[in-house]
Amino acid sequence: MADAIYRDTWADINLDAIAYNVEQIKQKLPQHSNVMAVVKADAYGHGGVEVARKALEAGASMLAVALLEEALLLRNANIKAPILVFGRVSPKDTPIAAEQDITLTFFQKDWIREVKDLPLTHPLKLHMKWDTGMGRVGIRTADELKEIVDELYGVQRISLTGIYTHFATADEPDLSYFEVQKTRFEQLLHVFNTIWKESVIIHVGNSAASIRFPENMYHYIRFGIAMYGLYPSEIVKREREIDLKPAFSLNSQLIHVKKIASGESISYGATHVASKDEWIGTIPIGYADGWIRKLQGIDVLIDGKRMPVVGRICMDQTMIKMDGEYPIGTKVTLIGKQENEEIEIDEIAAHLETINYEIPCMITNRVPRLHK
Ligand code: PLP
Repeated sequence: MADAIYRDTWADINLDAIAYNVEQIKQKLPQHSNVMAVVKADAYGHGGVEVARKALEAGASMLAVALLEEALLLRNANIKAPILVFGRVSPKDTPIAAEQDITLTFFQKDWIREVKDLPLTHPLKLHMKWDTGMGRVGIRTADELKEIVDELYGVQRISLTGIYTHFATADEPDLSYFEVQKTRFEQLLHVFNTIWKESVIIHVGNSAASIRFPENMYHYIRFGIAMYGLYPSEIVKREREIDLKPAFSLNSQLIHVKKIASGESISYGATHVASKDEWIGTIPIGYADGWIRKLQGIDVLIDGKRMPVVGRICMDQTMIKMDGEYPIGTKVTLIGKQENEEIEIDEIAAHLETINYEIPCMITNRVPRLHK
């Protein structure tokens, strides 16, 4: 993004909402459980550096990202808090992580072997990932655990500082598989405690697990979607164990307004044909901003009222059928509140048959994020 903003479309990021959401979960957690703010993917599209700073200010004491690049961006912004990278980083890149005091995730014996052969100039901190049923990455058996721990014994400049797992169904109504994973984790932990005597930090829970089972979260929770004010699923939203404030809103302005006569059409393919005279507004956002074509038909807010997107969404522009004439420059809210009306991210997700996580992530960085 260029530094100056010339366009009439932007996302407002309410950092007070981020702080509020961190404070809400902190109130539910026992004293020994801390908050790791998950700010991967540019803080789920909210702006990594700004969200990280606010979350730390509000009481988070660690950050998590998916990529080494994302961790380095935070370090380059002078953020000194501990950072964990969830994803696998190639052994050859571990010296950079060590230099910058960035904690990495590992789960392969050969990975440790390769790292051991590197001339690390700084200590490398590692968290070991256990796959108790997510089926993504991680060690799965007690034998694997013993073998990998064998590789670690006595290695200078590599320190195992944490272990963790990830639940696949913590946000579901049926928690039986969650219980299976919990049991597998406890079994592995029992083995681990017999072969590793130094203390490590343990973390197992994402937003859903920490909202629903705050008492069972060990030393850290990995707090992602709920920090952004979104409930991880319908069931967690219905249970309302926690009050959350959404941080993301998406706004634009009318850049053109016209009246079309009955029979005239709008946009590519002429799919919208006016059945009577209609007021049409144009806003400067399109699929290149992540406002994808499947959003045709969804409502936006103008003057506190819902009005539909009509015709095909173009690469950079979208048309709205309005209930009357509005001046150029009138604010249009695509996500967020106007007066008593609100378009929630959950509504957009339902229209697209996806989850709320995807929505702020899919709004591209052509759309400037304004942090307030
Ligand atoms: N922990 C891990 C390993 C993750 O991959 C994620 C996100 O995908 C999270 C925690 C955060 O999950 P949530 O956004 O549901 O809180």
